[in-house]
Amino acid sequence: MKKKSIVSMLVAFYLAFGVLFSSVSAKIQSEQAFDNKIVKRLKVNNIYNHIEALSKEPRVAGTEAEWKAVQYIKRQFDSYGYESELQPFTFIEYKAPTKVSVNVNGDTVAAAPFTYTPNGDVNGELDYIGLGTPDDIKGKDLTNKIALIKRGEITFGEKVINAANAGAKAVIIFNHLSGELNGTLGNVDNRFVPTIAMTKEQGDILVEKLNSGDVLSASITIAGSVIEEKTSHNVIAKKDVTHKQKDTNQVIVIGAHYDFVPTSPGANDDASGTAVTLELARVLAKVPTDTEIHFITFGAEELGLIGSNKYVDSLTDVEIDRIVGMFQLDMVGSKDAGELVMFTVDGEKNLVTDLSAAAGVRTGTPLTYGQEGRSDHVPFYYAGIPAALFIHSPTEPWYHTPEDSLDKISKEKLLETAKIVGSAAYQIARPDTPALERAKVAPKEVDYEKMTGGLK
Ligand SMILES: [Zn+2]
Repeated sequence: MKKKSIVSMLVAFYLAFGVLFSSVSAKIQSEQAFDNKIVKRLKVNNIYNHIEALSKEPRVAGTEAEWKAVQYIKRQFDSYGYESELQPFTFIEYKAPTKVSVNVNGDTVAAAPFTYTPNGDVNGELDYIGLGTPDDIKGKDLTNKIALIKRGEITFGEKVINAANAGAKAVIIFNHLSGELNGTLGNVDNRFVPTIAMTKEQGDILVEKLNSGDVLSASITIAGSVIEEKTSHNVIAKKDVTHKQKDTNQVIVIGAHYDFVPTSPGANDDASGTAVTLELARVLAKVPTDTEIHFITFGAEELGLIGSNKYVDSLTDVEIDRIVGMFQLDMVGSKDAGELVMFTVDGEKNLVTDLSAAAGVRTGTPLTYGQEGRSDHVPFYYAGIPAALFIHSPTEPWYHTPEDSLDKISKEKLLETAKIVGSAAYQIARPDTPALERAKVAPKEVDYEKMTGGLK
């Protein structure tokens, strides 16, 4: 990557924010002096120790280990002087069936379960109902039958509900293209009946037999799937403004997710981001500010950004409007990963990337940006909030494996991220800088390099 000169980037940056300086280099030095109020106070051993404490066991959402992490994080926040709060939320945990078998007229047929299918042990006559649309089913009585349905036109879940409403006890959906069908019914729904998938080839054979007048009786067994309601938490610490008379009425969010996948300690994913968030909360607790800073560690990210979605859903329109930027730290400490990159959902620059690119230059790490979702910045983006994911790209080979452990963590990388995000956040939050308006948050003049693609 070609590096830009510090002075040209910062000239562009200050022009973009509408401020003229007779001496740009003097201004850079004074900016660095502000950065140093954060940078010099960061203790990388604190970050490392948090990772060590959090990566002793897999922090799977809804488990005791995740709850222990919640309590650890809350204790740290509170020890810095915050009155942190827990935001509990529930989610449905689904475990795939352990046994699936299908028989047609005594012959075993290969089949796969649909995600969210209920368990069941069903026998019945097969009836082919085309695509399973309301038109296909109109006037049909499927009572005690197993519906055979072709993929296409409407969702799998809709097909199953249509067939079940007409009385079907179970559903077989076959592919409309050759190859395996691994589908999901989309969510848990008590209208669903046991549903399995077949290949196009198998489906076509059954349809042909039925069309030639054969009577086919099938038996379907699905066992071992588990649908359970679980509870997870977001942990939230809010730094109020210290300069009440200058209160910008704006909020910055610094976030990470603390949950992780089974069978992995998750040292980098994302104990690293959680640990940096904690250390930034400690350091920023002590500095004067005119902008609120909310530190949020999210639960159940790995199950589909559940915690961050619940958090954003819980905000009023007024609260959403107050948030001027969201910094998401996810996997920011692996010694085996590439360079620090900022990713936005739409691949466009925004206030967060602009401020961080400038802070990166001042603290010695010029940044690039690219397009990627897949972390807790996503729901903030869809709420209209400038948000970016900070992550190293390409990711380490240990991603989502049992090898994502403390010994792969680089203190240098942790500190680099903490310096950039801390300096960028402080640039907005300190009392001598003006409030930033959402409408003007992406000055085009800020010049830094875009990656050609997403996360590698
Ligand atoms: Zn992650």
